[in-house]
Amino acid sequence: MNTARGTLLVISGPSGTGKTSICHALLEQVPETVWSVSVTTRPRRGHEQDGEAYHFVDEGRFDELLAEDAFLEHATYLGHRYGTLKAPVEQAVARGQVVVMEIDVQGAAQVAARMPDSLRIFILPPTPETLQARLAGRRTETAELQARRLARADGEIAFARAEGIYQYFITNDILKDSIDEVIGILKQERERT
Ligand code: 5GP
Repeated sequence: MNTARGTLLVISGPSGTGKTSICHALLEQVPETVWSVSVTTRPRRGHEQDGEAYHFVDEGRFDELLAEDAFLEHATYLGHRYGTLKAPVEQAVARGQVVVMEIDVQGAAQVAARMPDSLRIFILPPTPETLQARLAGRRTETAELQARRLARADGEIAFARAEGIYQYFITNDILKDSIDEVIGILKQERERT
């Protein structure tokens, strides 16, 4: 049994930066990592299974969870609500696991305040054009939604930098290098604590 305390690893970044690919690689390559399954009111996309990437709920259920104080953090992103449940995160950290949370800047600010010893990394696109090209390549979304995500990216980056929420910023130019960098930071952090 692992007696060391676990790590809360927050990964954020505008959509299209490749943060989800980085998270998947972490889960595959680093032992003891677990994915934090967020709760959201956003509609399920075609390929998504309930309980895998997200728990999909309606507004009423989200309100109930809020009233029960079940969330470690929560935020509204492009009109839909998202939140991280406290209980599974606390249990995994107590088991000594690394909990990988992919959440937005508002949520990361709440985690930074509540759990200052968490590790928080922001993934940047190499250039604004890369972001545009990556988002345009997504077939699951309308052009309007892609435009809204892109419009939001600048604000997210500015907020992330100004608020001092993140200990690390990584520019995701070559995916493999970014994955190695995140794994390196995580290792260093695990050794330190
Ligand atoms: P998507 O709808 O594209 O899966 O996610 C939209 C945004 O919501 C992304 O920036 C993602 O990181 C963020 N997000 C996903 N889950 C959570 C959560 O539990 N809390 C917060 N604050 N943001 C989340």
